[in-house]
Amino acid sequence: MRFPTLQTWFGKKASAATKGQRKDRSQLRVGIPKVLNIWTTHQFWVGFLKELGVSSENIIFSSDTSEEQGREFGKGRGTVDCCYPVKCISGHYGELIFGQKKKINILLSPMIHSLPSALYGHVEDTVTCTRVMAGPENIKAGFLKERDIFAENNVVYASPFVSLGDRHVVTEQIHSSLKDVFDLDAEETTRAVTRGFAALDDVTERIRRQGREILSWCAENHKPCVLVLARPYHMDTGIGHEIEAEIQACGYPILWLQYLPTDPDLMNWLFEADLKVGRIKSPFDISDVWTSSYSSNTNEIMWGAKVAARCPWITCVVRLSSYECGMDQPTYTPSQKIVEATGTLYFKFGDLDSTKPAGGIKIRVETISHYLGKYSPQIIQRKLSYLSPHCPLAELNSPTEPSAAETARITVV
Ligand code: SF4
Repeated sequence: MRFPTLQTWFGKKASAATKGQRKDRSQLRVGIPKVLNIWTTHQFWVGFLKELGVSSENIIFSSDTSEEQGREFGKGRGTVDCCYPVKCISGHYGELIFGQKKKINILLSPMIHSLPSALYGHVEDTVTCTRVMAGPENIKAGFLKERDIFAENNVVYASPFVSLGDRHVVTEQIHSSLKDVFDLDAEETTRAVTRGFAALDDVTERIRRQGREILSWCAENHKPCVLVLARPYHMDTGIGHEIEAEIQACGYPILWLQYLPTDPDLMNWLFEADLKVGRIKSPFDISDVWTSSYSSNTNEIMWGAKVAARCPWITCVVRLSSYECGMDQPTYTPSQKIVEATGTLYFKFGDLDSTKPAGGIKIRVETISHYLGKYSPQIIQRKLSYLSPHCPLAELNSPTEPSAAETARITVV
């Protein structure tokens, strides 16, 4: 099926035809469904669109997922049975098409094939789950099955296939798929992609720095924190159900896997024993626990479990997983075993879907808080004893040299 382009729209603009000048896209309204891996790549799309001249207020993200959103905007548009994070996208599309006071012109729903990752180069690949990749095609079908809802609402549907993990191919991918949609030339595509990656790198770096500040504070004050081991879209309040916020409200700082600090001094300290015995080639090497390392988010979950097992102040891991997630199934046991090997607490909330089990969450958060309070001091001391006293985060009051037996123990985690 062929989708309409915005040739008419650009044709009305006097500057559109002037070679070398920036085209006027300031009034163009672009809607982006805030789903799946948009959660960790949205700054790329914001930077990209802003460089093209789309103004900030005209870049519209859908709301967090909710049952109401699905009921009001996505009802009857489901196609194949799927995991909840994909199934709920119908509501996001519908909200962008039907729920805006000022209509959007373009619905931009990228098919993200691979992701930027700190593990890039240390793993087999950083591709996304196939359901993530194909999600936009799946959901689009629900808006075309009876009649073309996009055309009826004068919305251009744009779904570029992008390998954000392989930067060298992105300009070409975006130019070939979006050139008609945005009236793009090659030069401005290059500029916009460069700006997109700069914006993404900048925000990722800033949040990682905040993660390090949290760990430094914990180290200085002998306090525990909690690591959320989940996929990026569990940050969506309608997918992850704000479980981490409930734990934070009990006084425990939260770190998300996606924004763990990756500084070499910290990583080398945590993985020193493994590197010394040649068990891994780099702190980002997960071949010791996960050989089939193709899937970006899965790789990061396994790496995050290893970091949590070693980092003294991460005394608890909270694992989140969605209803019908096939990708998570094989990771449950290994990630739990890795985390618990050093006595770190591990709690799993599985099969999360549209309904927030508020009562169950409350009871379990009370349990987590109880165990955190009771066992964190011992967990911190025990994990510190496995590590060298030269902690890059803070001066440790009573550093302890690891014994040979303790060093041996950490290398088998
Ligand atoms: S990783 Fe799991 S939850 Fe995410 S899209 Fe794939 S199957 Fe669905």
